Amino acid sequence: MRGRFAPSPTGALHLGNLRTALVSWLHAKSSGGDWWVRMEDLDRVTASLAHEADQLAALAALGMRPDGPVVRQSERFDRYRDAIATLHEQGRVYECFCTRREIREAAQAPHGELPDGAYPGTCRELTASARAAHLAAGRTPALRLRADGERFVIDDLMAGRYEGAADDVVLQRNDGVPAYNLAVVVDDAAQGITHVVRGDDLLSSTPRQRLLQDLLGLPAPAYAHVPLVLAPDGTRLAKRHGAVTLADLATRGVSPVQVLARLGSSLGLCAAEDTVTADELVPRFDWQRLPRLPWSLRADEL
Ligand code: GLU
Repeated sequence: MRGRFAPSPTGALHLGNLRTALVSWLHAKSSGGDWWVRMEDLDRVTASLAHEADQLAALAALGMRPDGPVVRQSERFDRYRDAIATLHEQGRVYECFCTRREIREAAQAPHGELPDGAYPGTCRELTASARAAHLAAGRTPALRLRADGERFVIDDLMAGRYEGAADDVVLQRNDGVPAYNLAVVVDDAAQGITHVVRGDDLLSSTPRQRLLQDLLGLPAPAYAHVPLVLAPDGTRLAKRHGAVTLADLATRGVSPVQVLARLGSSLGLCAAEDTVTADELVPRFDWQRLPRLPWSLRADEL
């Protein structure tokens, strides 16, 4: 059994990220498994080594240390390109010249059961002359998966039974950078990840990832999608909401031990005032006890 936490090193981890990390760590440790960290730094403009070091330090301050090497996606582009080549051989890749705006406009049309932001397939059957016109206009294509309406049922350890369709997800951006959904599937398999615990904003992307696993002949891990942490305004917690990182909280006199107790109490594992270590929470971990609803922070907690 091997779990993982896969942050993007684009800033400090906030309470929501740390809580998801804690769930994945507790699950791995309570199952006698390993826990790995992978840096999803595909976007080299926003990611940095300084953020990476800061994130690892924050995890360690709460008692979570990776059992395997910290892998960076930015160093693994060859593997992602090989996977795209495999899909290409299966006739599953097509070029897409759409701009973000074109996609946004086209995606507003109703498109049945496809996930949010699903691509409506504008470039699926592009004629040679339309392609030539795009190239002549200086546009470079992204690469998309040719999905065929495949549907998947995911028996999620947290969210329960989820069913959804795969769509024509981007495999490579038009700047040549491999896309998240492809990289995550390649890496989870390469790293022998058996359990993916992550935020439930990615639940609707899981059918896409399941299709990619099947096409690439990769095993599907078990999934647990953890409800997000919400700010008092009901939106997903973000840095702008206040004191949400370990550094912010330290300036208010809140120690990592106190943060851990707050996270543990939000998971039903201890009281918010307890002095506990992450190791002490391990034997208390139980999927059945975890709240199924988002953790909503009050204004006076930020
Ligand atoms: N890197 C993604 C994020 O920062 C998480 C991907 C995953 O866990 O599959 O939200």
